[in-house]
Amino acid sequence: MICPDVTGLEMTMEKIKCLIVGGGPAGYTAAIYGARAEIAPVVYEGIQPGGQLTTTTEIENFPGFENGIAGADLMTVMKNQAVRLGADVRSGAVTSVDLSSRPFKVVVDGTHEIEAETLIIATGATAKYLGLPSETKFRGMGVSACATCDGFFYRKKTVAVVGGGDTACEEATYLAGLCKKVYMIVRRDVLRASEAMQERVRNTENIEILWNCNTQEVLGDQFGVTGARLLRKDGEVFDIAVDGFFLAIGHHPNSELFNQWVAVDKEGYIMTDGKTSRTNVEGVFAAGDVQDPQYRQAITAAASGCRAALDAEKFLKMN
Ligand code: NDP
Repeated sequence: MICPDVTGLEMTMEKIKCLIVGGGPAGYTAAIYGARAEIAPVVYEGIQPGGQLTTTTEIENFPGFENGIAGADLMTVMKNQAVRLGADVRSGAVTSVDLSSRPFKVVVDGTHEIEAETLIIATGATAKYLGLPSETKFRGMGVSACATCDGFFYRKKTVAVVGGGDTACEEATYLAGLCKKVYMIVRRDVLRASEAMQERVRNTENIEILWNCNTQEVLGDQFGVTGARLLRKDGEVFDIAVDGFFLAIGHHPNSELFNQWVAVDKEGYIMTDGKTSRTNVEGVFAAGDVQDPQYRQAITAAASGCRAALDAEKFLKMN
């Protein structure tokens, strides 16, 4: 159906049983389960099809891939699997939503209006970066925001982790088990992390904390990262030699489009009901990193996508 929009653009319209927003492990897994449950899922992949995993190199901890798989390839096979089973996977980004009543109204790319009986939000999260040009230049060449994904490539090498929260401490202790030495670059003279995590850091011999330090520049050559230039609060500028530079300064859930309608916590993560994917709006479900500040792994995102599709199927049967 085509009808004129107030802006003069032609707005196409469509009714959908199950709309999935987000093309990462949560969205594709929801699509796989949704297709098999015959709820005719339609996925909009958003501006980064494949999600955060497409920015990592090798994934070695996703079960079923004995020899590991590139992040982008894992997303391609998940998507192909969803399509083969009958999911309708489309490119396009949701630009506005109205979840005030069912069916939910969702606009894609400003020109296509969807009326969805159920909605699965799987828009993921975005790691925060410092915003340095040199950090962007070496992203994927030594700069990473995921120690669990990329740490293995720095075995017996020296790395730095930026941040002083629980994630930074967790990543630093994880990396310390693989690497020769781990520097933690902390901008204040205290860690924000819980006492238990701080204790773990203090008890790990090969972690050295560089207090009151901010990174001025990531250093490198044509092969990747070689070091970092730091500015200490007392004004001293000094370089450290590192092979990997890990950011652990927090994540930002991609919930902005929805937070007017669904309940979010103080950091913006969508709140779900217990072990289910149900949000506070009946018929709206959330899966993956947009509702998970804790684990943030491809496998946990995929598992929550499965839950969301099963929850949506059950909801459609009962309503
Ligand atoms: P946090 O927001 O808790 O910590 C971010 C850290 O990064 C802080 O030390 C902060 O410094 C620092 N930081 C922020 N911006 C910059 C910057 N521009 N330059 C340098 N440093 C910067 O994020 P986390 O990801 O660590 O944790 C998020 C949530 O998840 C928390 O609630 C945490 O408790 C939880 N979590 C729990 C875990 C567990 O229980 N096992 C594991 C991981 C996370 P400053 O302190 O100066 O602001």
